[in-house]
Amino acid sequence: MKTVVVREHGGVDRLLMEDHPVPLPGPGELRIAVRGVGLNHLDVWVRRGVKGHVFPLPIIPGCDISGTVDLAGAGTSRFRAGDEVVVAPGFSCGHCHQCRSGRDALCRQYGIRGESCDGGCAEYVVIPETSLFPKPATLSFEEAAAMPLVFLTAWHMLVERARLKAGEKVLIHAAASGVSSAAIQIARLLGARVLATAGSAEKCRLATELGAEEAVNYREADFRSEVKRWTGKAGVEVALDHIGSETFGPTLACLAKGGRYVTCGSTSGFEMKTDFRIVFFKSLSILGSTMGSDHELETVLGLAAEGRLRPVLEQALPLEKVGEAHQHLESRKAMGKTVLVP
Ligand code: ZN
Repeated sequence: MKTVVVREHGGVDRLLMEDHPVPLPGPGELRIAVRGVGLNHLDVWVRRGVKGHVFPLPIIPGCDISGTVDLAGAGTSRFRAGDEVVVAPGFSCGHCHQCRSGRDALCRQYGIRGESCDGGCAEYVVIPETSLFPKPATLSFEEAAAMPLVFLTAWHMLVERARLKAGEKVLIHAAASGVSSAAIQIARLLGARVLATAGSAEKCRLATELGAEEAVNYREADFRSEVKRWTGKAGVEVALDHIGSETFGPTLACLAKGGRYVTCGSTSGFEMKTDFRIVFFKSLSILGSTMGSDHELETVLGLAAEGRLRPVLEQALPLEKVGEAHQHLESRKAMGKTVLVP
């Protein structure tokens, strides 16, 4: 079967197309014929490598997988051949204190497919039955593969970590990115009001289409003064940021007293520099967030099935174009998600 493999870190030329044997499901597992693999920033980190982090190379990348059940292993009962499914991107031990408390992502054995073990950039993948969910009938396979990681992440950030409430105002950066385009929809669903930032007029238009009350092109206007105006100088209760170095300081300055800054990543660099007095004088909370629980994934998939959430799919490309897909994501030109189709 066609498979994408990373054997060494580096540029897009390190994304190798190889021919691998079709895997067989073991007990409790099912084989999935992959119909879509969503691309995330995580895939770029896996390809490039991250200083101080060891990835298990060689690795098949790709954590967001949709497909049809192809072959059921012994002892499985919930799904049968032909069922349309979505794969949970993360996995955990299932029996430690954190797992039993519904905090899967805090499990010491928590991992993400395509980062901690082989993922779905292939024609077939073998997955434990416990990690499968029915695909929402409202979504195409491509849309379904664009959904899990970003909606799970955005839901966990806003609902579980920042405790965003109806009527609150939230600042959401990088509106056209996967996590933020999910976050805008989730914030609106919760009854919150959104001011989004993005780097082009086109991306700003997407933000307002998704439900943002205002969208600021940060290349043309200072988002700090826009937030000041929008909130009558009070500041926003919540800010969602995954740009990091470039935005951390000015974003903290946008928060109201008691405000919550929530982050799931840092695409512009890992060093943060700011005047820290604001954190204690304004009683701010800085909240880190990674992934979420299977229960939360079930919730967002349920809302998609009801037509209340929908991933923004920019393009579906053949698996062979994985390098082009990475370049597109790295160019910061993306307007929604890219999905690869084997
Ligand atoms: Zn556990």
